Amino acid sequence: MAERGIVLEGTGGVWRVRTDDGETREASMRGRLKKADGGRRADGSRRRDTVRAGAETVKLAVGDEVLLERGDDGGAWAIAEILPRRSRLARRAPGGAYGERVVVANLDQVVVVFAAAQPEPHAGMIDRFLVIAEANALRPRLVVNKVELVGEAAARQRFAAYERLYPVHYTSVREAVGLDALRDALEGRISALSGPSGVGKSSLINALYPGLRLRVGEISRSVNKGRHTTVGALLTPLPAGAGFVADTPGLREVGLWGLPAAELDMLFPEFRPFLDDCRFADCTHRQEPDCGVRTAVAAGEVSAERYESYRKLREELEELETEVW
Ligand code: GDP
Ligand code: ZN
Repeated sequence: MAERGIVLEGTGGVWRVRTDDGETREASMRGRLKKADGGRRADGSRRRDTVRAGAETVKLAVGDEVLLERGDDGGAWAIAEILPRRSRLARRAPGGAYGERVVVANLDQVVVVFAAAQPEPHAGMIDRFLVIAEANALRPRLVVNKVELVGEAAARQRFAAYERLYPVHYTSVREAVGLDALRDALEGRISALSGPSGVGKSSLINALYPGLRLRVGEISRSVNKGRHTTVGALLTPLPAGAGFVADTPGLREVGLWGLPAAELDMLFPEFRPFLDDCRFADCTHRQEPDCGVRTAVAAGEVSAERYESYRKLREELEELETEVW
């Protein structure tokens, strides 16, 4: 009988899989599947841990749902099948999907954490995280921690524009504010926590789940700069079957590589209703006449701060494009 499970971690060909019954098993890819046609590197060598799923060769990733079977010898567990993915957080190679590396599969949401102060939240950085989530078709959720430093009313005012776009949580680990609502939002889902260091990601997780010694997001990984391509993600089960938190190499490292500059406007959800109003189909929303986005900004229907983030990111993407080609 096959058992269904979720891949928590993979190192050196051995994958840790959490079964639906809550057991953690070590499993390797089934030999027969490993010998499938696909998964060859450009130099002809065989890539480890690939499996043919239908016509497509899929490289197993943390977060994948798999079927486990006992090996022929009856003892060892083997991964027999990868179930279809609901989502993927991927680092794309410049120039498109070819060479895409899935960092985590099946994420339900990206929880973007910032602090109301210390460190100061910068719109440009917040919007970068949100755009990366959108580029991966992942639902973002914003957490504004350390609210007690500025007061909740001031924090709500500062982030009002985001409340119209995404769920926003106002939390204080120090004063135990907003923790129950955030725990509810993580319940039963696979979430990636992301955000700059020092905003309180570890503190939040420790306050929500005392005793769960979790490596969180970019903190543990930022010390490994330059090595991140070799460091995999890790999924940590939350207590009592309450979902999983992914420690990813970081949204920032997934970055916006390979995202065409012309597609950026679609990743600002509040721009979408106005894109059809632009006179030119390839409007960059900067200086063209009759631009629906700029008209919406002037009318206060789109936040000027968000529009400014768009312009900066757009410039950055255009520079990347000229570097690559
Ligand atoms: P991380 O790098 O995002 O994981 O941040 P940490 O959890 O390490 O927290 C960074 C610093 O912020 C630590 O000194 C925490 O004690 C502090 N901190 C965390 N949450 C709060 C909060 O709600 N209010 C205040 N004032 N400080 C906090
Ligand atoms: Zn326009």
